[in-house]
Formats: sequence, C-alpha cells, structure tokens
Amino acid sequence: MRGAYCAALVFPARIPYNRAMSEHTSPTSAAPLAPATQQADADILILGAGPAGMLCALTAARRAKAAKVRKEILLVDQDRTPARKLRASGGGRSNCTNLNAAPEHYLSKNPRFTAQALKRLPPAEFLRLLEGLGLSAHEEDQGKMFCDQGAEALALALEKACRKAGCRFLLGRPVTGVVPPAEPGGLFRVDTAHGPLYAPRVALALGSPAWPALGGTDVVARLAGQLGLIHVPARPALTPLVLSGPEAALCRELTGLSVSARLSLDAASACGGVSIADSLLFTHQGLSGPAALRLSSYWRKGEAISIDLAPEADMPALLRQPGRGKALARTILSELMPRRLVEARLAELPPQFKARSIGDRRLAELSRADLDALAGIVGSWRVIPRTTAGMARAEAASGGLDVEAFSAKTMQCKAIPGLFALGEALDVAGDLGGFNLHWAWASGFAAGHAL
Ligand SMILES: Cc1cc2nc3c(=O)[nH]c(=O)nc-3n(C[C@H](O)[C@H](O)[C@H](O)COP(=O)(O)OP(=O)(O)OC[C@H]3O[C@@H](n4cnc5c(N)ncnc54)[C@H](O)[C@@H]3O)c2cc1C
Repeated sequence: MRGAYCAALVFPARIPYNRAMSEHTSPTSAAPLAPATQQADADILILGAGPAGMLCALTAARRAKAAKVRKEILLVDQDRTPARKLRASGGGRSNCTNLNAAPEHYLSKNPRFTAQALKRLPPAEFLRLLEGLGLSAHEEDQGKMFCDQGAEALALALEKACRKAGCRFLLGRPVTGVVPPAEPGGLFRVDTAHGPLYAPRVALALGSPAWPALGGTDVVARLAGQLGLIHVPARPALTPLVLSGPEAALCRELTGLSVSARLSLDAASACGGVSIADSLLFTHQGLSGPAALRLSSYWRKGEAISIDLAPEADMPALLRQPGRGKALARTILSELMPRRLVEARLAELPPQFKARSIGDRRLAELSRADLDALAGIVGSWRVIPRTTAGMARAEAASGGLDVEAFSAKTMQCKAIPGLFALGEALDVAGDLGGFNLHWAWASGFAAGHAL
C-alpha cells in the first residue's frame, strides 16, 4: 500500500494549510452556564454514536469497571439508529481496518498527530477487540480488512457491547451547542433540540459533513465557533469526479467498465506531484473507483488530471517490439486494455492520425509520430473534471477541528479541560481502504482511556 503513495501525498510537506484557510471564532454563547447547583446527567457525555463515539464509550466503561469505579456514560445522537455510516461502510461489508495503518495514510494539517493513537491501537489490537465482540475479519488486497459478518453486524455488536457495559443511549437528540464550565471542575452544558444536558466531561464524536444522507452534518464547525476553537474548513474527500463534454460522453459509453490506471496531478497543482495507481471505474457522470476517489481528496477545481490507462506497460517498447511488426496497432492496444476502451480512445486521436486510420495499420508501417500518438492515447489522457460529486457522495471529509488544540495521546482539548474530540470531528481524513474507520477506532480508544 505504501508503494502506491508518493512522498508528496503527505501533508504538510507540499500542501500549505495556512491560517487564512482556517476559521477562528471566539466563544459567542450568551446563554447562562450551568448553575452551581445543577445536577449532572452523566459523568461523561459522548456526542455522536458513530464508531468513534461507541468505541470511546465502550473503552471508558470497561476501564471504569476494571477499576471498580462507577461512571455514568451517556451517548447522544441525532439519529434513532446509531452509526449509519458504519452500517453502510464498504458497501455493507465494512472495510473496518487496514493492516498498514500509519500516519502517512492520513491527510491533516499535522499527520503525525495520529501516530500515538495508531500505536496504542494498532490494527492487530483492533482485530483482537473485534474477536471479543464475536466477530472476525479477512484480508483482501493491500492490507484491507473486511468484517466477515458485515457492517450491520459490526454496528449492532458494538452497540450491544456498549449497552452491556452499562452505557446508555439518548437517540433522536440533535446537539445544537456546547458551553464549557465557567470554572475548572464545573459542568459543560450541551444544548440539544430537546433541552440541555450537563456533564463534567464531554467528547465530540460528531463526525464530518460527508454523505449527509447517512447523518453527516456541519455541527462540529458550528460548535468550534462557539468554543473558540480553530476549525479547518471541511472539503469533500473520497468522492467521484464529474466530467463534462466529450469526456463525459466517453465515460457514459463505458459505464461499468473498470481498469487499472494511474491518475496524476501536474507538478504545478495545489497538491503537486500526487500520483495514484489503482482501479478506475467509468460511470455515467465521469470517473469513480478507488483511483478517482483517492485522487479527489487532492484535486482542486480547474486542475488537469493525467490518466495512464496502462500503468504497468512500457508503451514505446511495446510498440517497437521486435517480431511484432505485422501486428495491427489496434491488436497491441487490446492486449493492454478492454476493446471498448481501445475503440473509445482511438476515436479521440487527432484528425491527422484518425484520417490515416493508424489503429488499423501494422506496427511496421507506422511513423515515429504515429507511434507517439498511439502511446499518448493510452499513457497520457488529460481530463479537467467539471467538479466532484461533493459532500453528497463523499466517503469522508478533510478538515475539522485543528489537531494542534488537542493532545495526541488523549484527544483532550489543551485549552478546555474535560473536552475531547475524536474521529472525523478532528482534522484527520484517511485514505481509502479502511484507514478512516481505523482512525475512528484508534482515536476513540485513546479518548476512552483518558475520559
Ligand atoms: C458510504 C460510506 C462508506 C464508507 N466505507 C468505509 C469503509 O469501508 N472503511 C472505512 O475505513 N471508512 C469508510 N467510510 C468512512 C467512515 O464511515 C467514517 O470515517 C467514520 O464513520 C467516521 O466515524 P465517526 O464516529 O468519527 O463519525 P460518524 O460515523 O459520522 O458518526 C458521527 C455520529 O454523529 C451523529 N451526529 C452528527 N451530527 C449530530 C448532531 N448535530 N447531533 C447529534 N448527533 C449528530 C451522526 O448521526 C453519527 O451517528 C465510509 C463512509 C461512507 C459515507
């Protein structure tokens, strides 16, 4: 998996996340704080019952039990069904972790922030935890681990384990605000659509705005403003690329076709030099599949993408193979990629080559310019996407609460003791392949130990 990455993929080396990109607002809530006599509703309020929130709750509950300490843990979620993204993950099969989980697979202002939590809960440890829930996983390509029992079973097992450990769930309760205590040791006030809740410790596990139909909201950005925390603006990540014009027509024609490809951004692009080799899927809207989804996390509007449709092949050498001079150019190209794609790309040849039907000529008859043109339609197809499918179809979002404000060991806010943030609520977005769920588990586990 590492091999699929180039060094340029690692933030912040090439991608300046400057302060101007971040929103910083001072606390604004004028509503009254918790009165001194206010009773707490729980010892720990975990806002968001997704994978990060649930693993955090389970870890905290098990630790409290082991220490023979009584801790009331209350998970609050807007939805009546917790963890809807987890239930949909991996197309229902849940790519629940990746054996290669390491900081270089994460986008963040500071990817090293993830290191301690990933070390504390490495993939092997998570798999043991999964076993403890009565579940198992198997490896597919590049370290991707899929839950044998499926995504729904994983979400249900986690919820059941939380309840068994004594955690309570308050569902159908959208959170609208969080007000820190006026004094150390006081109570946080959490505003919900059905009135306030109070607790001395609060964990923000409210995810990102990605895929709103599965519960993604921008509430974390709003809470950041209220709490005076920097929020790196959210951008859709792992989302399909939308093409227009003749390129869109070509993709429509090839809908459903999947090929191996390398997608690269120009060196001069905002994330210069990013290059990803993976499978590419043609859709009625443009490009999807792992290669396009992964590149979308780096692509900026207006930038061109260069696509190599035969990344393993040495095209010049292939077209000049000794002993194959009698082979038709079209035949050689069809050895590299599906016939439908060969025809579609031949149709895109510049008029001077198309007029001479170079696809139907024998290799020996072709000039150097002809061979270069053929190599070009395979190795450097340039497209400028019109846009991406945006948050609506994003499997994750980059951006979130600036990690510099939080402890990398405990996920606790340095300026507001008792406040924790985990999962996608933080400015951490993983690559495709189980890295996002692994971050949810690892950050939830770290916070659960400290809460
Ligand atoms: C379709 C799809 C497939 C995916 N597949 C994979 C995969 O196979 N592998 C992988 O690693 N990652 C996958 N991901 C990404 C992964 O699901 C997320 O990164 C992960 O769920 C983030 O966990 P989280 O707990 O931080 O946030 P979430 O899972 O988003 O949980 C946040 C919770 O907060 C709740 N919430 C939000 N706003 C409010 C509010 N105002 N008040 C109260 N509650 C609120 C939500 O209802 C939700 O339950 C996929 C994502 C999608 C959308």
